[in-house]
Amino acid sequence: MRHFLILLFVLLVGMFACRPSTGGSEKGGALSLKIYSAELGRYIMSQKVIKTEQEWKRILTKEQFHILREKGTERAFTGKLLKVHEHGVFRCAGCGLDLFNSEDKFESGTGWPSFTKPIAPENITTRPDNSLFSKRTEVLCSRCEGHLGHVFDDGPKPTGLRYCMNSEAMLFVELKGQ
Ligand SMILES: [Zn+2]
Repeated sequence: MRHFLILLFVLLVGMFACRPSTGGSEKGGALSLKIYSAELGRYIMSQKVIKTEQEWKRILTKEQFHILREKGTERAFTGKLLKVHEHGVFRCAGCGLDLFNSEDKFESGTGWPSFTKPIAPENITTRPDNSLFSKRTEVLCSRCEGHLGHVFDDGPKPTGLRYCMNSEAMLFVELKGQ
């Protein structure tokens, strides 16, 4: 019996000791991520932005919170970024991460800001969304996991993709003389 208890103890210690190594064993841990910075023109390492619901409510407007944190959708043709055509970058309204270049914005006629591609594949995350009885692909910010919109495969060349975004999920920053 005593030997059995010792063996059990050793096994349990072994199990717990193994735990941390299953997570972020890479440098910087599981919370760090590589993102592209439009300002610097290169990739940098950043940290995931994780906040509670209450913290998000404090820093976001009601509309931003509804879309980013509750996966809402603004009404078509009401978004403030729909008609923006200046040269600049569209950033995440939650964490400020660069998401889209103005050069990749196009008039889709859908009533939502539409883009052919993100600023860098690493800056966005996609995942299947089977809500509302349809198969769609959700687009999220890679850093704060805020809901941005959906991506569809009926976009123009060269990507054939249409990133259908919510204005309220983004902030536009004009870049002058760049
Ligand atoms: Zn974000």
